[in-house]
Amino acid sequence: MSLKFALVGNPNSGKTCLFNELTGSTQYVGNWPGVTVEKKEGRVKKLKEDVKIVDLPGIYSLSPYSLEEVIARDYLLDEKPDVIINIVDATNLERNLYLTTQLMEFGLPMVVALNMMDEIEAKGDRIDIQALEQTMGIAFVPTVATKGKGINELIQKALQVAKAASAGTLIKPPSPAIFTEMIEKCIEETEKILTSQIKGADFNSRWMVLKLLESDEKVIARINASEALLEAIKPYRERLEKEYDNDVESILADERYRYISQVVSRTVKRKRPSDSMTVSDKIDLIVTNRFLAIPLFFAIMYIVFKLTFGTVGTFAVEYIEVFFSETVVGQLSAWLEAAGAADWLQSLIVDGIVGGVGSVLIYIPQIIILFFFLAILEDSGYMARAAFIMDYFFRKLGLSGKSFIPMLLGFGCSVPAVMATRTLEDEKDRRLTIILTPFMSCGAKLPVYALFAAAFFVAKQSRVVFSIYLLGILVAIFSGFLLKKTVFKGESSPFVMELPPYRVPTFKNLMIHMWDRSKDFITKAGTVIFAAAVLIWFLQSFNFSFQMVEDPAGSILGVIGKAIAPIFAPLGFGDWRAAVAILSGLLAKEVVVATFGILLAVGEVAEGSMELIAALQTYFTPLKAYAFMAFTLLYMPCIAAFGAIKREMNSWKWALFAVGYQTLMAWLVAFLIFQVGSILGFS
Ligand code: GDP
Ligand code: MG
Repeated sequence: MSLKFALVGNPNSGKTCLFNELTGSTQYVGNWPGVTVEKKEGRVKKLKEDVKIVDLPGIYSLSPYSLEEVIARDYLLDEKPDVIINIVDATNLERNLYLTTQLMEFGLPMVVALNMMDEIEAKGDRIDIQALEQTMGIAFVPTVATKGKGINELIQKALQVAKAASAGTLIKPPSPAIFTEMIEKCIEETEKILTSQIKGADFNSRWMVLKLLESDEKVIARINASEALLEAIKPYRERLEKEYDNDVESILADERYRYISQVVSRTVKRKRPSDSMTVSDKIDLIVTNRFLAIPLFFAIMYIVFKLTFGTVGTFAVEYIEVFFSETVVGQLSAWLEAAGAADWLQSLIVDGIVGGVGSVLIYIPQIIILFFFLAILEDSGYMARAAFIMDYFFRKLGLSGKSFIPMLLGFGCSVPAVMATRTLEDEKDRRLTIILTPFMSCGAKLPVYALFAAAFFVAKQSRVVFSIYLLGILVAIFSGFLLKKTVFKGESSPFVMELPPYRVPTFKNLMIHMWDRSKDFITKAGTVIFAAAVLIWFLQSFNFSFQMVEDPAGSILGVIGKAIAPIFAPLGFGDWRAAVAILSGLLAKEVVVATFGILLAVGEVAEGSMELIAALQTYFTPLKAYAFMAFTLLYMPCIAAFGAIKREMNSWKWALFAVGYQTLMAWLVAFLIFQVGSILGFS
């Protein structure tokens, strides 16, 4: 028997934890058709039945206003999963059960996972699960998703419900009295009209009837409701609205909350009154304090950079570096020599592939470390605060606070970040956010900073890299302000977001999170960067008549580089090698480092980045290096990101405007840094 379970719940209720516990590692991540909200599917592990689990997006209700909610409800209506597993945060029943009352209306078999029971116990609260089941007429299974507790019971219960449903023996308790008699009467009448007017349509779903009473446009379109039908329903809606002096949507919402508070007061015994301050509230008094919030945010980010680029990171890089330069290169050269490999082949392998890919690979530990710390900030609940704090500033600048989330993702990789702008409903806000997101320094640029900081700013590496990240944020804020005043005039939509309580992140989740983001870089090293290294090696070894050259200045790459180098001369790096590195960085930003690795190691066996650093120092000064880092940060993102921008903007014109603007900004900022720096006497 093959079954399909859908996992539904509020954001932060533990859905991801539960999903991972249920499926182990056999998950499939894709997109919902037509949209880029992530879709996760997996099979329940260690079970003789074949059960597929679909993780629906985290939602608070089933309204038509957000993309996530529309996806969830369409899924339930179209796919009719065998069981809905509704995960509920037991510490916040008042809010979580709202969605539950809506899910119950689908008439599908359902089991509630009452999660975070460890926190309930720790607080000394008590939940009468039996009373809860009896009042609401659905099964509740207590769980602790982080520890895997109650997971077996949950899945067994779900199987039992599914089997009973397919055998037709599922005893459906009378639906609980959520609404008043008068509302119930309207529902009943509406349902009768519907079944008489639309034959064969599935109106078991009470939810759909309610949505029609609310005149939900999407549901009306879905059933292709005729004018006559809408007219027939109208009197019922008007009757309700008159009686309650409110619109149907609000009436139903109020009634649900009223019902939930009754249920909670009957089934939950709290040790402390619910309005007393929790630890989270107390931390937030400081963290989101009007004056402390921003300094604290920067202090935290600074510490993260200090750890990534200072102590821990440098240590890891040095270790790998020695491994590469001594073991890998040494062994490989000796082996190639012994095997009698041709000179060009030795050069391709040692200078091109090992020199190119290796010069990027050594920074992977730093990328992993940075993502590890960002994962801690995210999983602990701090990032949600950061978004909240930033929202205030964003709105001052006329930007939507929602823009902060894609921008935050931009620190990982611009591709998913650009796709995440789909959560912005307003088209102007969305375009603007797409343009700004690549200014957030993505992980691929990190090797460039790491290399240059190590070469020119030995004593203050973390401060210099931190300043580059800040520069990206500042340019984004400035650009947002500028573009909002000129190209994208208009009001921004407000941003509503809820702050989850602080939690100690679990090690397992941190690892999953960190790996999720880091793995792309490792794959990239084996694919794009590898291919780019071979290509660059080829272009710098041969001239236009395909003869091998002694001096790369005469190679194909040298000629192209010299042609474009004058553009960068006013920025301080008019050398053709820098021009070529910038150009090749469009393949992937790490390739900037790989290019230097290949170009500067030519003629002798690469001896790792100490050699590279010494070579760089003959072409750059600290000031020039800083201008180069700034340019790398800001100029047009790699082709993969450009592809995402083009897709999301759905227009060549806008996509080209975006990368044109970014590159122009990069040029201007690097120009200012170099020229003003020179005037001030820096070198
Ligand atoms: P999602 O947003 O619904 O996917 O929620 P996550 O699975 O990411 O969990 C949100 C936070 O709650 C994470 O920090 C989890 O470690 C934590 N969490 C999840 N389940 C439990 C639980 O049963 N007990 C406790 N104490 N924390 C949990
Ligand atoms: Mg999640």
